[in-house]
Order: sequence, then structure tokens, then C-alpha cells
Amino acid sequence: MEKRKELYQGKAKSVFTTDDPETLILFYRNDTSAFDGKKIEQLDRKGMVNNKFNAFIMEKLEAAGIATHFKSLLSDQESLVARLDMIPVECVVRNISAGSICRRLGVEEGLELNPPTFEFFLKNDDLGDPMINDYHISSFGWAEPEHVEKMKALTFAVNDVLKALFLDSNILLVDYKLEFGVATGGEVVLGDEFTPDGCRLWDVDTREKLDKDRFRQGLGDVVESYELVGRRLGLSFD
Ligand code: ADP
Ligand code: UDP
Repeated sequence: MEKRKELYQGKAKSVFTTDDPETLILFYRNDTSAFDGKKIEQLDRKGMVNNKFNAFIMEKLEAAGIATHFKSLLSDQESLVARLDMIPVECVVRNISAGSICRRLGVEEGLELNPPTFEFFLKNDDLGDPMINDYHISSFGWAEPEHVEKMKALTFAVNDVLKALFLDSNILLVDYKLEFGVATGGEVVLGDEFTPDGCRLWDVDTREKLDKDRFRQGLGDVVESYELVGRRLGLSFD
């Protein structure tokens, strides 16, 4: 399967058509961005590490019965995925307080959230990805009401699978962002990626940050930390 036309270039990945209209290639670049694209750097090996990390996680989710767009790894930095009609909404589940919820609600970082909390954000960098609710999504027609419920249910289902998976490697899944799309048959399917670029992961014992906060906060060893998480999960990046 080869790349044909570039459909879209996001902040970290490029999307290409293939000879099959139902199949796309996601190319994981080394670009790393934060603060809605205001901080951008190239990090060696990041594209490869995230591509392989995502493949591993998507396969775990599929095995647990969660439908994803992932088909196969194509090369170090490319994966084949099913083409989706993407819903322009980010679904966030939080198990522990960190990041924007601390700023918005004035709560300290590191509080265990029981039950885990859920937030929707509109995917719009120009507006700084504002927080929205179910009603906004339906009223503005960003997704069908039944698709909204499905996204919520799937995002929590992912939490059950991945919280346990990371904990087995002594890592806390603090929070994460998912994106969904509608497949040709009308089913809501997990799209985009699950990598340390879009979640927070802390070592259980030291609470050391092993995710994109290392980049946001200038802590260094960004890709090294992603690789460390991957290796603890049993992945090899050679
Ligand atoms: P961003 O758009 O946030 O800068 P990326 O650099 O990760 O993010 O770009 C990837 C783009 O590809 C995103 O816009 C995402 O919604 C889109 N995308 C992900 N999976 C699919 C898919 N299966 N079908 C169509 N588009 C997809
Ligand atoms: N996230 C993301 N893309 C975004 C916004 C957030 O992947 O555009 C992820 C982020 O990495 C974290 C979770 O979603 O794991 C919650 O992010 P938060 O709202 O705390 O925003 P942040 O402070 O990280 O910008």
C-alpha cells in the first residue's frame, strides 16, 4: 500500500490517501507541539516511537472488543487505518487531577478523581480547544446524539482496559484524550492515536511524569520517557 495524495497535515501526523478509498496512511512525524501549536520542536525518534506505541495500544483495545480504525503497521513511521468521518470533538477522561482542570477549577494536581471525570472539548486550535458539553455537540450538529453517548461509553471502556494495562507496569494513567469518527457502515470507531503525546502517565512510586508534560514543562528526556513506558509495557523500538 503506497501513499497517494496528502489529505491533511496535522501538528504531529500527516494523513495520506491510498489506492483503497477506505484506507488511509497516518505518517507520524517527529514534530511535537504544545499550547495549541505555539511551542513546536522536532524530537528525534518520536514519530517511530509513537507509531509503534499506538499500534500496541490499539491492538490491546481491539482485543478487548473496542472498535478502532487501526489496521496495521506499514513502516517505522506509518500505519494503515480505516478512513473515518472524524467528529471534531476531543473526549477526555481524568482519573487524577492535572493540567487544565487544575487551572480551571483551582484544584491541586494529583487528586484522585472517584468516579473518573469526563470532558468534551471542541477541536479548534484557533479557539484554544474550548470545553463544550453534550448539548453544544448536538445543537451545532457536530455529532448525532446517539454518537455522543457512544463516544462517552467507549472513552470509559478504554479507561477500564488501559488503566489496568498501565498499572501492571507500575504506571498511573492520569488522563487522556481520544478522538472518534464514523466508519463507512455508520459505526462510531476510535480514531487518531493513543500515545504519550495525548495522555498523562506517572510512575506509581515516584510520580515522575513520563508523557508530553515533559515537553510542555521543559523537563527533558521526552522521547526517552515515552520509550521507557513502551519498554515497561513489553514493546521494543529497535
Ligand atoms: P491535529 O489535527 O490535532 O494537529 P494530528 O497531527 O495528529 O493532529 O493530525 C492527524 C489528523 O488526522 C487529525 O486531524 C485527526 O482528526 C485525523 N485523523 C485521525 N484518524 C483518522 C481517520 N481514521 N480518518 C480520517 N482522519 C483521521
Ligand atoms: N490533550 C491532547 N490534545 C489536546 C488537549 C489535551 O492530547 O489538544 C490531552 C492531554 O495530553 C492530557 C488530556 O488530554 O492527557 C487532558 O488535557 P488538559 O485538558 O489537561 O489540557 P493541557 O493542560 O494538557 O493542555
